[in-house]
Amino acid sequence: MLCRALPKAARATALALMLAWAAGALAAGQGPPPREAACHGGQYREERALMVRRQISQRGVKAPRVLAAMGKVPRHCFVPARQRESAYADHPLPIGQGQTISQPYVVALMSEALKLTPQDKVLEIGTGSGYQAAVLAELAGEVYSIEIVEELGKRAAQALAGLGYGRVRLKIGDGYQGWPQAAPFDAIILTAAPPKIPQALVEQLAPGGRMILPLGPRFGVQELLLITKGRQGVISRQSLGQVRFVPMMKSD
Ligand code: SAH
Repeated sequence: MLCRALPKAARATALALMLAWAAGALAAGQGPPPREAACHGGQYREERALMVRRQISQRGVKAPRVLAAMGKVPRHCFVPARQRESAYADHPLPIGQGQTISQPYVVALMSEALKLTPQDKVLEIGTGSGYQAAVLAELAGEVYSIEIVEELGKRAAQALAGLGYGRVRLKIGDGYQGWPQAAPFDAIILTAAPPKIPQALVEQLAPGGRMILPLGPRFGVQELLLITKGRQGVISRQSLGQVRFVPMMKSD
């Protein structure tokens, strides 16, 4: 017999065991996740200043507006509460759903390569935590960002609005399609790696526009590529080195 009722004493023991298990699981942090503790942008100032100096400026990122943006955006408010202490460390961090927020240096390097001005309109593919979008909002006039995982998109929207970046336009959808209604863009940044350059995005780039992306296989090293569209529409490519990003997902 696969299923049978337990005698009364055994039922009581089973219930007690289940309650004990539930209490243990909660104590061990396996229960429902706690509500995120409120985040204050004013915290971690010193850590942020050190991050800018040691990880970014000393490694060659020099654009003053990029250094100022990296010194201003409270990265710890974009990572899950349990990661806050590590928010300014020199590596990527998990943000849930198997995704990561890029290493601070990579965010700065990619942002600098786009040569953004306050007049520019920029599109990001892969909102993730919303951190890169906030950095872009410090540098450009208009920011659009697309995220394919709804849960992440919703959390990013909350974080951005809570920190005064509510003017960043967010969409849940497939970044491969870009955002044709808002095109053309002066700059496009991909923070997930496609196996080949998405043609729709190249088309949505304005003449004189810049696009940066990690290009390459799902598993392994990718090439950080800067693509420039000349005034006459001629495309040029420049490699900025090797990187490792999460793969860009297909919606179908
Ligand atoms: N820029 C983010 C880091 C993103 S990690 C930050 O600052 O936190 C890459 C993100 O790209 C993930 O959130 C992933 O869900 C998203 N992504 C992957 N494929 C996508 C696609 N086709 N369209 C839009 N977003 C995509």
